[in-house]
Amino acid sequence: MDLGIRGKRALVCASSKGLGLGCARALAEAGVALVMNARGAEALEASAQAIREEFGVAVTTVVADVTTADGQAQVLEAAGDVDILVTNAGGPPPGMWTDWERDDFIAALDANMLAPIALMKAVLPGMMARGWGRVVNITSVSVKAPIAVLGLSNSARAGLTGYVAGTARQVADKGVTINNLLPGLHDTDRAAALDGGAAAQQGITVQQARAQRFGTIPAHRYGTAAEFGATCAFMCSQHAGFMIGQNILLDGGATNTTM
Ligand code: NAP
Repeated sequence: MDLGIRGKRALVCASSKGLGLGCARALAEAGVALVMNARGAEALEASAQAIREEFGVAVTTVVADVTTADGQAQVLEAAGDVDILVTNAGGPPPGMWTDWERDDFIAALDANMLAPIALMKAVLPGMMARGWGRVVNITSVSVKAPIAVLGLSNSARAGLTGYVAGTARQVADKGVTINNLLPGLHDTDRAAALDGGAAAQQGITVQQARAQRFGTIPAHRYGTAAEFGATCAFMCSQHAGFMIGQNILLDGGATNTTM
């Protein structure tokens, strides 16, 4: 399918690896020029160069922490008049409800709620003035079904979801869509780290820990960054103009709900 976005420009945050990289690659394949971002320069440059060579699109890289005001200013300056914004950042650490103090919540809100909101607030006026725009926020399955040890993530991402629900409906008549893409378990560095942690804790192999987790997913596997990116690219396409304020769950069926 031609996604109809060849020649557009996208800012894809936190995109040197994992799900953000999956989104960057799928947009590049559709002919979109990119601004990519991460804190580590080496992986970012390597991923950007691979995309330039494979898809022939222009890629600008910005080494910055997108959860800080300074990092946001840097990516926004490089992005200029972008047509597409994909927000992303690392998730907050796990723990128990008894562990978290005000400062922990402020850090989680900064990273996973206020950073994407600041980026949207900066790019939405230009998109609305030009009559076309697409925003996809990478959130989490934890928005639909809480993951108890990720209470900081549950809280911050719920706040972002509420903001998007209202704001998406305020900009839709200007040709701008805002939606959220909710990953369940995907095969990224983060999933590998969680597998390693579970294996060490239970005294089993990483393969056994993986198999245990596959057992909780009806598809009996993790999702791939490529599948995730393809869904993101569709949500950014010309064909998704009537999709407004939605929360699209990609979890292999793991969340056991009817709707
Ligand atoms: P990942 O494989 O660890 O990749 C994270 C990417 O984001 C890297 O490129 C990393 O590069 C960059 N990054 C992290 N923090 C950043 C920051 N503050 N500023 C700029 N770049 C930053 O992670 P992932 O699995 O793709 O996860 C992406 C998001 O989806 C996370 O919020 C995660 O909590 C959420 N999620 C993932 C899963 C899953 O199964 N994978 C499930 C549910 C939710 P640098 O480290 O160099 O900055």
